[in-house]
Amino acid sequence: MEEVRLFDTASRSVKPLSAADGKALKFYACGPTVYGPAHIGNFRTFVVQDLLVRVWQEAGGKVVHVRNLTDVDDKTIRGAREAKQKLGDFTQGWTDRFWRDGQALGLQKPSREPRATEFIPKQISLVEKLLQGGHAYEAAGSVYFRVQSFASYGKLSHLDEREVREGASGRADADEYAREQAADFVLWKAYKQEDGEVFWESPWGKGRPGWHLECSAMAMEILGETIDLHGGGADLIFPHHENEIAQSEAATGKAFVRHWFHVSHLLVDNRKMSKSLGNLYTLEDVASRGWDASDLRLVLLSGHYRQPLNFSWDTMSAVHHGRERLGKLRSWLVESSKEAKGVGWGSFQTSWDALREDLETPRALGAMYSAVGELEQKRKAGLSSEAAARELAGLDRILAVFGVEPAYEKNEEPPDEIRSLGEAREAARKAKDWKESDRLRDELAKSGWEVRDGAGSWRLVRKPIHP
Ligand code: AMP
Ligand code: ZN
Repeated sequence: MEEVRLFDTASRSVKPLSAADGKALKFYACGPTVYGPAHIGNFRTFVVQDLLVRVWQEAGGKVVHVRNLTDVDDKTIRGAREAKQKLGDFTQGWTDRFWRDGQALGLQKPSREPRATEFIPKQISLVEKLLQGGHAYEAAGSVYFRVQSFASYGKLSHLDEREVREGASGRADADEYAREQAADFVLWKAYKQEDGEVFWESPWGKGRPGWHLECSAMAMEILGETIDLHGGGADLIFPHHENEIAQSEAATGKAFVRHWFHVSHLLVDNRKMSKSLGNLYTLEDVASRGWDASDLRLVLLSGHYRQPLNFSWDTMSAVHHGRERLGKLRSWLVESSKEAKGVGWGSFQTSWDALREDLETPRALGAMYSAVGELEQKRKAGLSSEAAARELAGLDRILAVFGVEPAYEKNEEPPDEIRSLGEAREAARKAKDWKESDRLRDELAKSGWEVRDGAGSWRLVRKPIHP
C-alpha cells in the first residue's frame, strides 16, 4: 500500500501510520456524549477522523474503526432526569440524531459503535485488576486510580512532575472528596441520590463507571491491549487520554497506543463555542440558513487539523460556489468522456499526495482547485474523450476521498412575482438605470434568488439563504 503519514501527539513528530499486525489498522476514536445535539466543533473532529479513514482506505489499507457512544455520565443522567425519560430512551434519541447528522455530513459508519453501558462487566474487571496491582484504592464505595503508582504518568501531554502532583485542571468531579492526592481520578463512582435508577452492582456496592475507564475497557475489549491509533479532539489529551494510558498500561503492562491523533478545536467568530454566547451551532442551524451539510464538511476540512479553525457564516458561500464549479466541471467531463474509461489520478495526483502527508487539507484543496481551474481553461479548446475520462476518474477519486459531493444547479422555476422582478431589473439595466437595477437585484436576493447574466441572456437561480 501507499504510505500515509500522520503527526503523533506523544512523540511530537510526523510518522508513517501502520497496522502492527500488517492487516488492519486498529483505530479507536472517542465518540460523542449523547445528551444533546453534537455541535459543528464536535463534527470537525469526526469529519477529520472520517477523512483519515478514507485516505487510509484509498491508500490500500484496511481499518477497524471503533467510535464509542458515551451513554452514561453526569450529563446524560441529568438530561434524562430533566426529560423525565429512562436513560436508555433518552440517549437513544440523541444517538439517532447524531447518526442522522453524521450521515448528512458523509461520515462513514464505523466498524463498531459500542455503548459504554454495554461494557460494565469489562469495566468492573479492569478496576479489580488495578486494585490487585496496587494501582487503585477504594474509598466510600468509589474507586480511585493512584497516579503516583504509574511512573510515566504525563508522558502524552508532556506534564512535569509538579503538574502531575498538583493535578493540573481537567474536568473536575465534584464528588471526588475521598481522593488521596489531587491528581488521582475516579474509576468507579459510588451511587448518589441524583443517579436515580442508574446504577450497577459491583464488588464496591451500587455505582457506575467513570468516563475515562469506559474508553479503556471498550478499546481493549474490542481491539486488544495494544491499539494502533487513538484519537479525539485536542481537549481530550489531558486528562482523558493520559488517564486512559495510565489505567490500561497499569493493568496490562503493555503499551496501550502506538500512535495518537488529536484534532484542534473549531472556534466560532474567534471565540470558544458556548450556549451563553449564542455561537454554538448544530447541523440544524446550517440547514436552516440554506446551506448543505456538504458545504460545512468542506469548511471543516479547509484548515489543517493541527491548527485551530475559525468558523464564520461568510465562508460558506465561497465553499458552496466551489462545489458548483466542481459540479459544472464534472458534468462537462461526463459529457466529453462519452464511452471512454479512465483510471488514475489525472491532474489530481498532487492533491492526493498532500492528503497522504499528515492530512494537509489546505494544500490538497488548493491543488484540487488549481487542477479544476486548468481544466476549465481547457474547456474552450476541448479535450479528447480519453483525456476527459482520465480527468473524470481523478476528480471522482479525489471527491470520494474528501467525501464531498459537487453541487448541481437545481433548475427550479421562479414564481411569477420573482420573474416580474427579474424582468423589471433587466429593463432597468437596458435603460442603464444602474441604481434601480441594483435595487431590484438586492430585492431578489432578499427573496432568495440570484440573477445570472450570460452572453445576451439572463436567468434566475435559487441561492442559499444567508443569515
Ligand atoms: P463530547 O461529545 O463532548 O464527548 O465530544 C466529542 C468529540 O468532539 C471529542 O473528540 C471532543 O474532543 C471533540 N470536540 C469538542 N469540542 C470541539 C471543538 N470545538 N472543536 C473540535 N472538536 C471538539
Ligand atoms: Zn475516550
